[in-house]
Amino acid sequence: MFDYLIVGAGFAGSVLAERLATRSNKKVLVVDKRNHIAGNAYDHYNEDGILVHKYGPHIFHTNSREVFEYLSDFTDWRPYEHRVLASVDGQLVPMPINLDTINKLYGLSLNSFEVEQFFESQAEDVPVIRTSEDVVVSKVGRQLYEKFFKNYTRKQWGLDPSELDKSVTSRVPTRTNRDDRYFTDTYQAMPLHGYTRMFERLLDHPNIKVMLNTDYHDIIDFIPFREMIFTGPVDEFFDFRYGKLPYRSLEFKHETLNTETHLAAPVVNFPNDNLYTRITEFKALTGQQHPKTAIVYEYPKAEGDPYYPVPRLENAELYNQYKKLADETPNVHFVGRLATYKYYNMDQVVAQALTLYKKLTTTSEEVQKAKKPAILGSTAIMEKLVPRDPAKP
Ligand code: FAD
Ligand code: UDP
Repeated sequence: MFDYLIVGAGFAGSVLAERLATRSNKKVLVVDKRNHIAGNAYDHYNEDGILVHKYGPHIFHTNSREVFEYLSDFTDWRPYEHRVLASVDGQLVPMPINLDTINKLYGLSLNSFEVEQFFESQAEDVPVIRTSEDVVVSKVGRQLYEKFFKNYTRKQWGLDPSELDKSVTSRVPTRTNRDDRYFTDTYQAMPLHGYTRMFERLLDHPNIKVMLNTDYHDIIDFIPFREMIFTGPVDEFFDFRYGKLPYRSLEFKHETLNTETHLAAPVVNFPNDNLYTRITEFKALTGQQHPKTAIVYEYPKAEGDPYYPVPRLENAELYNQYKKLADETPNVHFVGRLATYKYYNMDQVVAQALTLYKKLTTTSEEVQKAKKPAILGSTAIMEKLVPRDPAKP
């Protein structure tokens, strides 16, 4: 009998498996329908021996010391600060938009103060910022919005920025200085030997059994377990009872080129040209030395593997219906990007999993203590567990 059946061997499932197995001595079965662990963070050496990310570039960054220290038990790190160029008006310019972006794009030589005034002169007055269009036009105006955001977003999401929640384009800041890093988090690094190696170490414990190529539906009636942790799409779990939750997908076109470097930056974004959104060169991320180079193109799609929840009001409302069902489903815990329908980065998923672990163990410790109130004198906990007499004040 397993204590936990964990569906999905990505960050959410693997972190919980590790905590439950090593800290709480639980017997855990992790199943994944794919033929590998690590979920969307999976990386592997391609046929030419270059380390590539199968599901697109994954760059680790976090402000959480707890998350960084936790993962540091399972990997060494390569310091890495991500940089992106955008191909706009025939030039490659820094993205997020910064002082150099504006000077290069318009052939100017503004300083930080002047560029701030430039943004103010362009910015539109938006009384309430609700959408992803509002976020950008209220900061830098419509022209820069159209050059950098409008078409990229339409390609990526199949929706106009005015139809998407403000949280989507809010991920990308605007700067008046020359900082050209994509992220400014305290911790920015790549797992030294890759993500998959880190996951191998997370899952390497006698209490953890991993079954790949296994949809949980195929084993659920045969393998006994006490509780389930589910990290797949929440609407699928409930057989789409309230209809399909939209998830955005991508097609990845991987290539190896017979040249040592190909791009002028680790990632180049193409807001206005091509059917793909961006190209990534993996060696720039991993630091690997190799005479050839591997790149990936990302082509957004509506159908296919679910990668991105789509942040907008009507989807949040539909998700809330599923969340209510999820909350009412005993002994099943929903966690991760697909199961909680949140546009989370890796570190946020790790934090969410660590929080769920604490909740699971606090609850069971409380039950344990409640069983021995005389020894522990734990009346406070008893009060929590035993319904109060409504007649008493
Ligand atoms: P997943 O990794 O999706 O794992 C869920 C697992 O459940 C999958 O392996 C799936 O096969 C399995 N599963 C689903 N249904 C079933 C079933 N019925 N039976 C068995 N198994 C099932 N984050 C960053 O921090 N930095 C980045 O640079 C970054 N780049 C990204 C780029 C792309 C293109 C994408 C798509 C995401 C990116 N992310 C990035 C986000 C990151 O991938 C996620 O935050 C993280 O991988 C989510 O982990 P998870 O465990 O919630 O889900
Ligand atoms: N975005 C854009 N142009 C860019 C980069 C980003 O319009 O050059 C918008 C787009 O809507 C994208 C969102 O900002 O989906 C968030 O960008 P991020 O790089 O965080 O996307 P992710 O890496 O998650 O795909």
